[in-house]
This record gives sequence, C-alpha cells and structure tokens, in this order.
Amino acid sequence: MRPVLILFAMILATTAFAERPDFEALVEKYEEQAIADRRWAHEHAELSMREFETQAWLRENLAAIPGVEMVEGDWGTGVVAMLKGGKPGPIVAWRTDMDALPITEETGLEFSCQRVDTLRSGRVTGVMHACGHDLHMAVALNMTRMLSDVRHEMPGTLLFIGEPAEEIGAGALMLLEAGIFDEGRRPKCALALHDHPTIPLGKVGSHTGPATANVDGFVLKVKGVGGHGAYPHKSVDPVSLAAKMILGFESIVARQMDVNHHCVISVGRIEGGAKSNVIPDEVVLEATVRSLDDETREALPEKIERLVNGLAASVGAPEPELEYYMGTAAGFNNPELVDECRAVFRRILGSENEYTYPAGMGGEDFAYFGREVPGFQFRLGVGRPDREMALHRSNLDIPEEAIAIGMRLAAEVVWEQMAE
Ligand SMILES: [Zn+2]
Ligand SMILES: [Zn+2]
Repeated sequence: MRPVLILFAMILATTAFAERPDFEALVEKYEEQAIADRRWAHEHAELSMREFETQAWLRENLAAIPGVEMVEGDWGTGVVAMLKGGKPGPIVAWRTDMDALPITEETGLEFSCQRVDTLRSGRVTGVMHACGHDLHMAVALNMTRMLSDVRHEMPGTLLFIGEPAEEIGAGALMLLEAGIFDEGRRPKCALALHDHPTIPLGKVGSHTGPATANVDGFVLKVKGVGGHGAYPHKSVDPVSLAAKMILGFESIVARQMDVNHHCVISVGRIEGGAKSNVIPDEVVLEATVRSLDDETREALPEKIERLVNGLAASVGAPEPELEYYMGTAAGFNNPELVDECRAVFRRILGSENEYTYPAGMGGEDFAYFGREVPGFQFRLGVGRPDREMALHRSNLDIPEEAIAIGMRLAAEVVWEQMAE
C-alpha cells in the first residue's frame, strides 16, 4: 500500500472509531429513567391484545423523543416508530414485546401489579409481567432515547417495533401481515433480547441457528363405549386407551424420530369420566408438540395420527377425533448476525461473560421477523444468587441492574449493524 493510502486508511479507521458514541455515558444518563419506566410498565401489566394503557404510554413516550416519527398502521395494540439518523445507512429493527401473563403476582414489590382481569374462559386472574416484557420495554424505549441523542451522527434508521400479544404467539404475524416491513421500512435485520433468570446477571447468551421451537399441538377426543366399571368387557374403555396413547407419544419421540432432530410431545391436560365405577364414553387429551426444524415438524402429525388410529382399532374403539394445529414457528438466529453481535458483547462485557446456550423448546414469535429478514434474539442474564426464579412464575423479580446492561448492548448492536 502506498504511504498516502495507508494514511487515508488510518484516518478512516480513527474516524470510524471516534464516531462510535460514548454509550456508557448515555446509559448513565438514562438509567434512572429506564428503571422508572420499567416500574410503570410492571405496575400497569396488561394481557395479550388488551395492552391499551401500555400502548398509550409507549406512544406518548416515543412521540416525545426528538427525531422519532410514529408510524401509523393496523398494529392493533402495537406501536411502531422510526428514528432516522443524520447519516445514510440501513434500517435496523429492534423489537420489544408488550404483553403480560394471567398470573397473580407474588413478588411483594412496591410496584406490584394490582390488575385483575377475566379470561375468555371466565376465569378471573391477576395480571403480571412474569416474562420480563416490562424490562424489554424499558430497554427499547431508553435505547431509543440514547440513539436520539446521537441521531445526527447515526448511520441509519431505527425501526422500533412494540409487539403486542407475544405470549399468545399472535403479535409478530399480525404486524407483518399489516405491512410493518413494507417498502421504505424493510430492515436489514431484526434484533431483540429476552431476559433469562437461568443466566446470571451481567452475562449474555446467544445461540446460532434454530434457537426456539415450533410450538404446535393437538386436542384429541379418545372415543370409547361407556359402561359399568365392574364389567369392562362389555364396554370399550377410553381411559385405558388414552393411557396407551400417552405412552405411545413418548415412544414416537424415542423410537421413530432421529435423535439429532429434537422434538417433544407433552400431554398437559387429560379429562374424562365422572365416577370411579363408571367407564366413560370419551376422554379428551391436550398436548403440546415441539420441534426445532421444519422436517421434524411436518413428520409428527402423521405419526401421531397413525398411532392413535391404530391403538383405537386394536381395541375396537371408534376412530378418535384428532384436531392438530400448527402454532408459532421455530426461531432461527442468523449465524453471520450472531457472530457480529457476539463481537460487540465481548467488547462490552468481556469474553468471560459472553457464551452460547443450547437450543431450547420454548417458543417465541420473534421467529416470524427472523423468517423475513436476518434475525437474532439474545438472552440477557437476570439471574440472582439469592433466589431461584423462572419465567412465567409469580415470583419473578428481576435485578434492575440488568436494564442498563440491556440498554448498552441493544444500542451498540443496533449501531454496529447500521455502521457495518
Ligand atoms: Zn413469556
Ligand atoms: Zn417473553
């Protein structure tokens, strides 16, 4: 390389370096606000598709951030906004989910949610942010504030996605069908984080490739012929037939599927009969069926159908009614995007706090964004040594220090993707 070129390259390198804003200082500036935001969101938790107060609050806060433009559309209870940088560059989408769960809070926190709501089934329940979506919103909102402060230097555009109804696997598809990624808004990539109490505070986890599961399932009516419990030979017992089917599902997983292609069939509900000495006419089973790849997903319904029909025929029972449904699709973390973000994580937290986790059988409908454009959802550690916590549990009490870490990582990976 000629000396003049070397000099030019050096200048370029130093400018690029100098251009990265002081994110540490920006986090410091907004951390207190972010904690207050998280507490507000926590206290005002709302169920899927009913995020009315949360939506109004997010809209109001976003609209007040300099440079943010609200994007109108059929987003239901969702919120979409854009923050345009002063320098040309790609659009990068950041998603936060917004909804809470029908769980009565048991954290004892000052800002516990007091809301009581009624489910479609008629069940009355408390409402709680037991999945950390309150933290996710605080991170997304304050990352937007941070980026707004440096928007004149920002080499691209942030697409803020406030996704409702994640817990029922409906929000992402709804937003995509309403055209969130239409022309002028199609991002280079979609990013998100999810808190995880199994990961210690201060650490961040990622996984390359299939990371979350296809969440399918079925309702099965096992039919029999009812009768007196003392004379089973005069009836066809759907209870014992259902029991054989449940064990059969386990043997499908163990004996008919490639062990390298993970899947799970769990029967979570069984109902039938009214009295110990009466053989009922019918037993109903409900199951969740999870897999990581599409090939496995597509192979399972036929095997399940063959098993239940075969077992029913073997005892002379009427054909069972199988209602199989496909739910949220598996999430795929784009390898290149994961590598680029991991380099950012290592720079900020050190390699000792950055690691990979194995694919899980949980579902996340962020997956749908990742099927449209390269996607990556990483895990933010919120585990604390003093207590055992789990997502979707009434005791989830995240350490608020995680919010600042989330803001830092979110802002920096978004920036890096724009600058790439
Ligand atoms: Zn959840
Ligand atoms: Zn969640």
